[in-house]
Amino acid sequence: MKVLVTGGAGFIGSHLVDSLLLQGHEVRVLDNLSTGKRENIEAHFNNPRFSFHEGTIVDPAAVEALTSACDTIYHLAAAIGVRYVIDDPLGGMETNVRGTEEVLKAANVAKARVVIASSSEVYGKGKSGDAWEPFREDGDCVIGPTSVPRWWYALAKSLDEHLAFAYHRQCGLEVSVVRYFNIFGPRCDPGGYGVLARFVSQALRGEPLTVFGDGEQRRSFTYVSDAVRATLFAGQSREALGEAFNVGSSVEISINDAAQRVLGLTGSKSIVHHQQHQEVFGPRFEDTRRRVPDVQKAERLLGFTAEVGINEGIKRTIDWWTTRSDQS
Ligand code: NAD
Repeated sequence: MKVLVTGGAGFIGSHLVDSLLLQGHEVRVLDNLSTGKRENIEAHFNNPRFSFHEGTIVDPAAVEALTSACDTIYHLAAAIGVRYVIDDPLGGMETNVRGTEEVLKAANVAKARVVIASSSEVYGKGKSGDAWEPFREDGDCVIGPTSVPRWWYALAKSLDEHLAFAYHRQCGLEVSVVRYFNIFGPRCDPGGYGVLARFVSQALRGEPLTVFGDGEQRRSFTYVSDAVRATLFAGQSREALGEAFNVGSSVEISINDAAQRVLGLTGSKSIVHHQQHQEVFGPRFEDTRRRVPDVQKAERLLGFTAEVGINEGIKRTIDWWTTRSDQS
């Protein structure tokens, strides 16, 4: 198969590229290296089945050229991370809305199958009022007001999903959506949004681990190899067509617990430092207290269950960081 991975030099995208090449596919990557890194994919530069194209998804000519004769497109390119999202909303919205539109338009011309990388952020604050429940794909999404900048990212990802499903219903385009829940592992940028990546890098350097808010907000963490497996299922199984899937683990822990696990597994003597979200992300920042997926749909239709436990995933991430610092 000929496959295009947008955002393929990024954290999840580069792991996806590794797996697609192992499966024997011909892989093209389109990435503008804004948060992605050449080093994530340079091991493949001599592979005749791999090609890297530095460019942007908002350039229709580049997207069209790379999409032509493609069988499947994994669309992961996005402006991501609360920090980037708040610092450059205009650039971010252009990438996350117009970029996705260009990818879907070109896919429709090429009649290529598309997997859209979406986010648990689309659920927003979760259900308001009622007792809290894990997020289900067909459940309501409760997004905060437009005066709070962080919510545009959730809305842009929701719009991407609507666009994809509209192409599916109106034009017969084969699409699937994966909603990632806090993916972590090697290559995740500690300066970006990945809280476990930040904790591991801070612990190994003996710096305080920064926990935003009271740290009692609860999350489900998903190791990157599990996210890649689910993404491949979404791109390769008939059952996935026209569907959105939560990609995550049903195990939830608090951020304070996550920090303690990293300290225990690194043996670091770092302290934990709490900082208010508003100090970092602006006065009207709103956090989600609990963000955990209902995983039944992915289990039922894709046969997917997350396999790597949180402690094992943290250990692998620590090993990767340690090997890296040995080399530098
Ligand atoms: P990442 O920042 O490592 O990857 C995004 C990639 O897109 C980067 O390589 C970046 O350079 C590239 N990119 C950005 N703008 C581009 C543009 N205009 N043209 C071409 N390339 C561009 O982040 P990631 O964690 O690997 O995220 C991959 C996808 O998964 C994104 O769509 C993101 O929204 C989604 N996601 C990730 C998580 C997570 O926990 N990591 C959670 C929810 C959703």
